[in-house]
Amino acid sequence: MKAMVLEEIAPIGTSPLKPVELPDPQPGPGEVRLAVRCCAICRTDLHVIEGELPREKLPIIPGHQIVGVVDKVGPGCRRLEVGRRVGVAWLRHTCGECSFCAAGRENLCEYSRFTGYHADGGYADRTVVPEDYAYEIPAAFDDLSAAPLLCAGIIGYRALKRSRLPNGGRLGIYGFGSSAHVVLQIAQHRGCEVYVATRGEKHRELARRMGAAWVGQNAEDMPVKVDSAIVFAPAGELVPPALAALQKGGTLALAGIYMTPIPEMDYEKYVFYERNIHSVTANTRADGRQLLAEAARVPVRPHTTTYPLADANRALQDLKNDRINGTGVLVMWRRGSDR
Ligand SMILES: [Zn+2]
Ligand SMILES: [Zn+2]
Repeated sequence: MKAMVLEEIAPIGTSPLKPVELPDPQPGPGEVRLAVRCCAICRTDLHVIEGELPREKLPIIPGHQIVGVVDKVGPGCRRLEVGRRVGVAWLRHTCGECSFCAAGRENLCEYSRFTGYHADGGYADRTVVPEDYAYEIPAAFDDLSAAPLLCAGIIGYRALKRSRLPNGGRLGIYGFGSSAHVVLQIAQHRGCEVYVATRGEKHRELARRMGAAWVGQNAEDMPVKVDSAIVFAPAGELVPPALAALQKGGTLALAGIYMTPIPEMDYEKYVFYERNIHSVTANTRADGRQLLAEAARVPVRPHTTTYPLADANRALQDLKNDRINGTGVLVMWRRGSDR
């Protein structure tokens, strides 16, 4: 198979992903192998490649928003058969036994493992996934629309839950990338107004086109008090203004896996009146299934920019430099091609 492999942590500007030919991986017990059709890119891939996350497996094939078709089934699989289209997300293992797993909070499992970080991911023609962690993709989505849902969508959905947005309420969004543009569509479908503050002019344009109630450049300019808010940008300095724009009793969710330091805050001005801060850590498989089901009812239509697999470095450079609107997707297969 063809793959883009990271051998050493390095800035994405140095194009550290190298194209290689590898033997096809073989599914072990309880695993299925996919012929990958496409894989969306994610800011977490950048954090893995550039070393903001602790170094784990190297060399590694990144990529954790994978859409593919099962082409081989390992021993002991019960649910999936060859030919089934499935998605692979960030979460790929939990222990099932720790106190968090036992309480239905497997996103906090002490022993969780992640795709494209602890195990090879989807920047490749083939990938292997534990059957229990593969999602069936609703027919409402073509491959390109499904891929961004598998991390941007799921994490956005978990952040939306954690923001406790009431139906018909007002949602503030800070940073308008891949997750945010999925969340906006779901929130609007629930009858909510969405207010977007984001630095990039292209991102503001997309938010306007998607029918945001207000779009601006600065977090400080939020024109109303919102019931709930989500900070998607990995920028701690957004936390105080986002709290200041919350209605009493409102909730701010912090969606990032990484954030720069949060500045000191005055308690009365930013936190008192029962304003809540909820961080968001990974997701449960139930989050993933719920997101796919609700997104199919909307139906969510992610805005995508496609790249061939060999251009993975360029795609991630574009992501880092805010040149992608919506989600970048590496494409390995299209209808009518020979696979
Ligand atoms: Zn556990
Ligand atoms: Zn991700």
